[in-house]
Amino acid sequence: MTIFSKIIAGEIPCYKVAEDERFFAFLDINPMAKGHTLVVPKLAEPEEDYIFNLDDKTLADMMVFAKKVALAIRQVIDCKRVGVAVLGMEVPHVHIHLVPLCRESDMDFRKEKLSLPSEEMASIASEIANAVK
Ligand code: AMP
Repeated sequence: MTIFSKIIAGEIPCYKVAEDERFFAFLDINPMAKGHTLVVPKLAEPEEDYIFNLDDKTLADMMVFAKKVALAIRQVIDCKRVGVAVLGMEVPHVHIHLVPLCRESDMDFRKEKLSLPSEEMASIASEIANAVK
């Protein structure tokens, strides 16, 4: 079971942003920017690790779910737009990064990540959650 499946199952805590029957969104624990969110599909074991191995419908529906979350992030976080990235170099469970951007250099996976107090992470997550339509 991947760490993301454990988060979805509630076995590991997270700062949850949104959920439906098939997808789940939560704050990245080492955010590149305030509001950096991960969108993951709920997958049976063994979890798929590579986004382009998903079937067409799951891939399309995941992007529509990510759109809802991204619109909410943009309402809550001061940014020009929400950038989208897929890496998957660390966690072997398909996921999309949604990163609030003010400038191009805000999307840089090599830069030092933010470390925010848990109260702030919880409050960002709940504000975004409340803005999800
Ligand atoms: P990657 O697989 O390269 O897309 O990176 C995985 C991302 O997941 C990184 O940005 C991590 O900070 C994030 N991450 C890893 N474990 C957790 C966790 N328990 N809760 C939230 N985010 C996590």
